[in-house]
Amino acid sequence: MAERQEVFLRARDRTFTAFSADDESQWKGPFYFIQGADPQFGLMKAWSVGDPDKGGDEWDQEIRLTEEAVQAVNKLNPKPKFFVLCGDLVHAMPGEKWREGQEQDLKNTLKKIDQGIPMVFVSGNHDIGNTPTPETIAAYCRSWGDDYFSFWVGGVFFLVLNSQLFFDFSKCPELKEAHDKWLNEQLAIAKQKWCKHAIVFQHIPLFLKNVNEDHDYFNIERSLRQDLLERFNKAGIKAVFSGHYHRNAGGSHNGLDMVVSSAIGCQLGEDTHGLRAVIVTAEKIIHKYYSLTELNNQGIEKELMDLIKQK
Ligand SMILES: [Zn+2]
Repeated sequence: MAERQEVFLRARDRTFTAFSADDESQWKGPFYFIQGADPQFGLMKAWSVGDPDKGGDEWDQEIRLTEEAVQAVNKLNPKPKFFVLCGDLVHAMPGEKWREGQEQDLKNTLKKIDQGIPMVFVSGNHDIGNTPTPETIAAYCRSWGDDYFSFWVGGVFFLVLNSQLFFDFSKCPELKEAHDKWLNEQLAIAKQKWCKHAIVFQHIPLFLKNVNEDHDYFNIERSLRQDLLERFNKAGIKAVFSGHYHRNAGGSHNGLDMVVSSAIGCQLGEDTHGLRAVIVTAEKIIHKYYSLTELNNQGIEKELMDLIKQK
């Protein structure tokens, strides 16, 4: 049992144990990974009864959808380098009634992922609370690994951030400060340019469509957004992948691609339950969102897969 829990605890000591810097800091040619967001076990029921703050007492639909996602990813050939889930793993907030059951069922579903495809977890507001505390963050780390860390895959540098520390750090100012200090160190590493690309994962998007849009529940507050964009830009970050919006969205700003992916679970717009395939070549980062059905039936289209065969 302990061994099987290990797959959820690979993010440790601010790095990711499946990818060592020694093995992975060199570019070895194009590769791809899969990004998903917001399985959020419990939201579909809560949404259907019109009570997103409480009513999430059932999550059969999300179990089925996540099973579909796992099946689709397991079928891919060649295998993706990893499968990242960009937050809101479950709907129940820390300490809420259905939390434990939702987490357990999600883990049971994700355990079926091919052993050769490491899973990377990003913390969302539902995972650590809208106003996180040292306790809620510690509980997340015990369950899913570090709340922020960096890792290398084939010469590409990846940063996983805790965007809740951007959103509301009123109950954990020291953790926010530590996160900021760490982020500056990581951005300095990215800036040294011995990485082919640098890519960020965080639950809350910096912006949804336009860099100057107003702040609301679904994006980062404007002055902090500007500050982060500037720091990311200076460090040469090429793309930021997020969830949280339960719709596909995004835009680009000064060469940075802000990619917002819809949910595996509950849809709040016109998109379908799905996953995003991200192809990393020497020159660029190309991505496409697929519905779970599409990905299960047809896989990733040939034009994209051909890109990873080029050396
Ligand atoms: Zn969220």
